[in-house]
Amino acid sequence: MKHCLKIILLALLGSLLIACRHNGISERTEFVIGTVCTVKIPQTTSAENILKDCFSELQRLETILSANSNSSELARVNTTAHKKPVAVSDELFELVALSKKISEQTDGAFDPAIGALVKLWGIGFENERIPEQAEIEAALPFAVSDNIALNMQTKEIFLRSKNTKIDLGAIAKGYAADKIVMLLKKQGVHSAVLDFGGNVFVLGKKFFTDEDWTVGIRNPARKNTELAFSLKVNDTSVVTSGIYERFFFKDGIRYHHVLDPKTGYPVRNNLASVSVVCKSSAYADALATAFFVLGYEKTKAVLPRFEKNMRVIFIFADGSIEELRNM
Ligand code: ADP
Ligand code: MG
Repeated sequence: MKHCLKIILLALLGSLLIACRHNGISERTEFVIGTVCTVKIPQTTSAENILKDCFSELQRLETILSANSNSSELARVNTTAHKKPVAVSDELFELVALSKKISEQTDGAFDPAIGALVKLWGIGFENERIPEQAEIEAALPFAVSDNIALNMQTKEIFLRSKNTKIDLGAIAKGYAADKIVMLLKKQGVHSAVLDFGGNVFVLGKKFFTDEDWTVGIRNPARKNTELAFSLKVNDTSVVTSGIYERFFFKDGIRYHHVLDPKTGYPVRNNLASVSVVCKSSAYADALATAFFVLGYEKTKAVLPRFEKNMRVIFIFADGSIEELRNM
């Protein structure tokens, strides 16, 4: 309930678009792709138009990728692609293909076929509830990405069962950030900050300096915005998945929105959050979720499969912090 209220408030805020200029920086904030998105770039004569283009692009991506709209292209796939293969946009095809690949690379800890389970729990929505064990068991076999068949030539998606539903919620914000970074670079913008609901991308060096950006990671154990960790980075994405974003409590147990595709239940381990630092925001987003599911030891084992220099910061429920780095 509380979360729904938050979403509504943010939606109201979003409809009142915020655009401003200060200290030589132009910024724009809107509620789009299911979250509050902010883009900041250095002020120039074309900055306002570039920002406008960024948000038109985000709106376009939302009509393709949203799992919470009945009219998105993804919704059309989810309701019809079990009858016959459906030809889709380049973006949807690219993101589903990437999601399937990451699912394999993470031994299924991240799985884009998790849609039916996400809907069953409804966490963060009006209908959130603890499903019956039998409902979860019935949904589990369909929540594996092998049920999503892709035809690389025709760019068609086929769902092997009508019970298989695609959900891109754990990767779409990152993918959108990568797209906006590409758009900015094409427009000659070499320094920018993107914050899509905590999905951060810092492009180039800190505005008007030769310094790295400082990106803070919140301490999930604290109610306020106290930082647990801060990173000096440039040209990279920092994405965090945590138990404190969307959840409800029942009988003293916290049920949050990151599900273990193997059990169908919200992950229960000793972690409070996992942050991933890497060049691709889509990867950072999907892997923050996957590594949260895998936990510290299993992440250590799979990390060499990914980008060199990737950093993973684990904040444990007891407040302790560990970092892994892919050398
Ligand atoms: P947020 O988007 O809130 O920052 P995440 O990136 O971790 O958090 O994504 C969580 C969302 O991804 C859930 O709301 C659900 O839609 C979906 N999801 C949950 N568990 C998984 C999983 N194991 N694999 C893929 N998607 C998941
Ligand atoms: Mg994620």
